Amino acid sequence: MEFLLAAMKTSCDQRFKIRPHFFPMMARWLPVGLWLLALAHLAPAAQVTTPPAEYRDDQILLQPKAGINAAALQAFHYVQKSAVIGTFVNLGGLEIVRLPAGETVPGFIAKCEQSGLVEFAEPDYLIHAALAPNDPQYTNGTLWGLNNTGQSGGTADADIDAPEGWDVLTSASNIVVAVLDTGIRFTHEDLATNMWTNPNDGGHGFNAFSGTNNAGDDQGHGTLTAGVLGAAGNNGKGIVGVAWRVQMMSCKCLDANGNGSDATLIACIDYARTNCARIMNASLDSAGYSSAVSNAIYAARNDGIIFVASAGNNAADVDAVPRYPACYNIDNIVSVAATTRTDALWGSSNFGATNVDLAAPGRDITSTFFINDSFYLSVSGTSVAAPHVSGAMALMLAKYPAETHQQIIARVLNATDPLPALTGKCVTGGRMNLRKALSPPVQLTPLAGSLPFQFRVAAGPNRTCILEVSTNLTSWSPAFTNTTSAAGWFDYTDAASTNSPRRFFRAISAL
Ligand code: CA
Ligand code: CA
Repeated sequence: MEFLLAAMKTSCDQRFKIRPHFFPMMARWLPVGLWLLALAHLAPAAQVTTPPAEYRDDQILLQPKAGINAAALQAFHYVQKSAVIGTFVNLGGLEIVRLPAGETVPGFIAKCEQSGLVEFAEPDYLIHAALAPNDPQYTNGTLWGLNNTGQSGGTADADIDAPEGWDVLTSASNIVVAVLDTGIRFTHEDLATNMWTNPNDGGHGFNAFSGTNNAGDDQGHGTLTAGVLGAAGNNGKGIVGVAWRVQMMSCKCLDANGNGSDATLIACIDYARTNCARIMNASLDSAGYSSAVSNAIYAARNDGIIFVASAGNNAADVDAVPRYPACYNIDNIVSVAATTRTDALWGSSNFGATNVDLAAPGRDITSTFFINDSFYLSVSGTSVAAPHVSGAMALMLAKYPAETHQQIIARVLNATDPLPALTGKCVTGGRMNLRKALSPPVQLTPLAGSLPFQFRVAAGPNRTCILEVSTNLTSWSPAFTNTTSAAGWFDYTDAASTNSPRRFFRAISAL
């Protein structure tokens, strides 16, 4: 038997207004990741763990062989001068063993194995809390959409798994994200360091009403969306964006009342495209289909630019009553609905099984606000859901610089957490998960019930995995190295499969 170890035109016609989407509540790359999928042959997958590389140098874990003479093991410790400092009686007598003076962890593990008394002996690997920034509104639990532990009546893990994603990557400092909105307060304490600067005029963007680079915020909405996607992380101030470091380009297409038209939107799309933005965040919508806007977005698509659009706040099925730009049928548009802290679809969020792609946190989201340089505000809307996705897209582009917009978007859409509340409400039926997008879990799944032993290694697209084999769970040797397909997997057949001795497999991949 073998085993897998793994484990929104301002015109005379009010019907065509673009409106912002929020309701103010005024009121490392680590060098190697190791996944062990604990999975008996033909049994369902059970668990995934990620052991780190470092271990304690003063103790190990020792699993006694079942049925051995306890006195013999005590005698072994006496002779070795090792000390049992803890025993787990419910775990087959698993021991925490203090090393003899002068002994190394590998050396002592070898002696334990040679004794014939142990099932296994292994290093006591160190574990670490996931990387967490020091921004106060994050540490106090306000930003539930990033990390939800059930605070304030929420549901634990109804979030995008941001801290786990940040273990992989926090910075997209080379990625320019255009915020198509009311402008951004450039001087805000939590935004200033993450503003894009035009090398030609020193400005931070474009104002489609004045035709100048005076793209500050006179309404507030754009500063809110900017903070969600790219507020400075770990600076000891305010909030943290999904991307801690990023270059935000302010493209003002909405006026001091939050209104604009297709003409201002097109001017901003064109500015962003010709000034090297890689992502556009459009937290706005309109009821009017515009061939000109569609063409502008298509031009951006041909330049590989990802266009993230909020689905809108009409509590409507946009498949039946379309909103634009979310419903233009172009493959670079990612349309975003809003979820709550209990992983429900937010009551005012639009939805659509065909035209909405995924959801992201959008209820009671605290972000930067334009009133002064240290003001923060809690709001709700698909306007603040969309920038969660834009921030994630920035990190994805930073991690996978050679990939196309289709590949990047597929990674994010394939990495959602399916939710009952979203079934039939959007293409993926899920809420974004940053960790799964940045580092898809590695899964080993048996393919057939007879020998030779065959299994599938799934690890996300284009990822190199090293399969290792062992007969004793202690010493492992490389058996096979392969890169997953664009679909995210490869199959392996163990040509040497036998039922005895048992052979165990595990997969190792870069994060
Ligand atoms: Ca979580
Ligand atoms: Ca901050």
